[in-house]
Amino acid sequence: MTTENISQANEALFAGLRTDGYINGAWVQAPEDKRFEVLNPATGEVLTTVANLGSDDAMAAMDAADAAQAAWGKSAPRERADLLRAAFDGLIARREEFARLISLEMGKPLAEARGEVTYAAEFLRWFSEEATRISGRYGSNAEGTGRVIVSQRPVGPCLLITPWNFPLAMATRKIGPALAAGCTSIIKPAAQTPLTTLAFTSMLDEIGVPAGVVNVVPTTSASSISEPLLADPRLRKMSFTGSTAVGRSLLKLAADQVLRTSMELGGNAPFLVFEDADLDAAVQGSLLAKFRNIGQACTAANRFLVHSSVAEDFSARMTKAVEGMKIGSGLEDGVTIGPLVDEAAVSKVSELVEDALAGGATLHTGGAAIDGPGHFFQPTVLSSVTPAAKMWTSEIFGPVLAITTFDTEEEAVAAANDTEYGLIAYAYTKDLKRSQRLIEDIESGMLGLNMGVVSNAAAPFGGVKQSGLGREGGPEGISEYLTTRYALTPAP
Ligand code: NAP
Repeated sequence: MTTENISQANEALFAGLRTDGYINGAWVQAPEDKRFEVLNPATGEVLTTVANLGSDDAMAAMDAADAAQAAWGKSAPRERADLLRAAFDGLIARREEFARLISLEMGKPLAEARGEVTYAAEFLRWFSEEATRISGRYGSNAEGTGRVIVSQRPVGPCLLITPWNFPLAMATRKIGPALAAGCTSIIKPAAQTPLTTLAFTSMLDEIGVPAGVVNVVPTTSASSISEPLLADPRLRKMSFTGSTAVGRSLLKLAADQVLRTSMELGGNAPFLVFEDADLDAAVQGSLLAKFRNIGQACTAANRFLVHSSVAEDFSARMTKAVEGMKIGSGLEDGVTIGPLVDEAAVSKVSELVEDALAGGATLHTGGAAIDGPGHFFQPTVLSSVTPAAKMWTSEIFGPVLAITTFDTEEEAVAAANDTEYGLIAYAYTKDLKRSQRLIEDIESGMLGLNMGVVSNAAAPFGGVKQSGLGREGGPEGISEYLTTRYALTPAP
């Protein structure tokens, strides 16, 4: 696309875009002085402004979600399934529009943004299918004197808080099961990327989701929304995706109302390459696990542990692959590395790289920020990174691949598990027995075995240790929004 074509396409995109809050089926507008800017991280330019809601709006959303809960919770599962299916069809039909919006406000390359739309839509299709399969059971007590009738009911109104790195998929992974289970919700999108959520909300409004069932409160003051809501006894659940630090503080607030919580938090994924690995496949998997989303994914491989016999070959192949990457705005043809989300992210990645180099790491390629406009960092490969390096213990969240070596499987597994996180791990090996041992011994909620991406709507995404609580996707995903009850009756 030429620059002129790109700007025409962007104008058309913004012409119909809602930039207000959405409460009780109505758009909540705000005067100019109560709006915040959304920036394009590839250029630093202002894309548009969005209504900046506060605690009064949060309470209005709570009132709406509470008022709508009873009827929505009792609606026919087929009705909910049909709405979710219509939302799936809508996203697929408008994939290009949503992909452009994601790329513009978040920065990822357009091809990846299209992938996010498909991934996001799959949660709607999956949960449309799950909505009609919410079941219970009928059985005898052990004595034979009574009958136990078990049913599943919607938890109730939910607060859904999403991050900026997958603005559509992280929203549908929560809204999908909430709608399917019969829960109403209040969504707080990330301040950096509210536009995609608002466009999706607009679609839900068009397809007829009843007033109050979905409410959206964009804001730059997250706590002014979360604190009153978490203190309100009408709220029955919080689902949060974001950093472990914020998740921890929200869990403390949630404890006061003994809220149900689903927490999808940070990671520090190890990527193990064994001596028997198919190195071509490992390189392809590494490119996905490390550089997808410009390294800004909770699932991003953070620590590459490579057997010493193949480490040199692996580093050389990765360096060659990385040197072939094209850096630029996500909307430009062929770009594989877009901008980081903001200047703070560039500074953080720069500091982590400088720290690793000061600690003795070897730089193979990249290693520096790129002068603006936009927030770019060169895709980078480092080897001989030691466990003392800060990037070994904290999420890099940028396009930096850090390699160290190991000699035995025991050493590799111990190093992989040496973190307070446990979201995901990756391993490349052709040995079946070793694969089975890794499934048992690696402490993570997910394992990519000879795969660089594991996310799938049919699978229970989530972590162990400080990477979180609960699961999103799969049959487990809807149960996060259901509560189990039983009645005991005398035997007939
Ligand atoms: P973040 O700073 O924790 O923010 C996540 C969301 O929480 C944003 O909407 C943010 O709002 C909001 N927030 C911040 N403080 C809050 C408060 N006091 N009350 C209520 N909401 C609050 O994380 P991030 O930088 O956006 O995202 C990156 C992190 O998310 C990484 O750690 C990554 O690993 C993790 N992540 C995890 C998963 C997973 O599934 N496990 C998926 C994606 C990302 P503002 O935007 O207004 O600050």
